Amino acid sequence: MPPIYGFYWSPSAASLDAEWSAFVQSGANSVVIQTHALTDALLDRLQRQGTMVYVDLPLFAGADLRVSFPDSAPIDAYGSAMGTDEWYVPLCPNNVHVRAHRLASLRSVLEQHGDALHGVWLDFVRYPLRWEVPQPNLVQTCFCDQCLALFFAHPPREYTIDERVAAIHAILTEHLAAWVEWKCQRIAGFVQDIRNFLRAQRPDLRLGLFALPWRLTDHNAAVRTIVGQDVALLGRRVDVISPMVYHRLCGQSPEWIADVVEEIRMRSCTDILPVIQTIDAPGPLPTEEFRRALEIARAVSDQGVLLFDLSAIVRDPDKLAVVREAFEGGKGAGCRREQ
Ligand SMILES: [Zn+2]
Repeated sequence: MPPIYGFYWSPSAASLDAEWSAFVQSGANSVVIQTHALTDALLDRLQRQGTMVYVDLPLFAGADLRVSFPDSAPIDAYGSAMGTDEWYVPLCPNNVHVRAHRLASLRSVLEQHGDALHGVWLDFVRYPLRWEVPQPNLVQTCFCDQCLALFFAHPPREYTIDERVAAIHAILTEHLAAWVEWKCQRIAGFVQDIRNFLRAQRPDLRLGLFALPWRLTDHNAAVRTIVGQDVALLGRRVDVISPMVYHRLCGQSPEWIADVVEEIRMRSCTDILPVIQTIDAPGPLPTEEFRRALEIARAVSDQGVLLFDLSAIVRDPDKLAVVREAFEGGKGAGCRREQ
């Protein structure tokens, strides 16, 4: 597969022409797009442009599923249902209705638009956490009835408040190592289910996964203990892992991007496609800092670079020029490797 140089794109009806113009000018060869934004008209346009189209499939987050399946609200270590955090609506990753719904969504997308797609990128592949901050609030989850029954291998039942408190205490004091391993296996197991489904339906499609940009030494190994993302397990089940190395959101320098990518590559033993931020958060992202981040990401990746997201580039001609230069250089390097 050729390297990916492209954007995460949430098309906006109000500024579609400007977004399309920036996309074409950037020289991008790929796009990652949400399922609800896929239309025949847009896919036709992208196909005529020669763009590789990857669909973003969110797994364990989404306001719509929280409404459809109220028992998908994750339960935290205090026994409380987790609320929403601005745009983030977490879901219990073991909820059977959520899992079935996500597989059905994938089937539906393949039936409707499969011919125009080049791959699927899994998103929110994890236990709940709002991670895009320097100091995240690390809360252990999920202790809902379904999760407790699965972990203890009990028949499903409703736990009383006292029973839930006792179960949470037992897990966190007596079974923590087993709990963490089980969480990682549960997440990897659902990724395996998706892989099996894709292999049966469309073995030619590339399967990628957006991963937290955390090393094992960050936040006391929370990437495994809290989030349940074990890239060693996940790397055997996908073709590509995309660490979301949003340095500014995480309070880091651009140089941090290389450290994270190298560790995840080493631990996962799979291809790595880094995603870097274009967005001004927190505060403005200076063009030179963005250029540095893009240079570092390109240098450390042989799969290309994804940018999150397109809308920030549309508003900023200087950054668009930086992207064009990098994408043209990147695609040139890719051609040279193939000779
Ligand atoms: Zn649960």
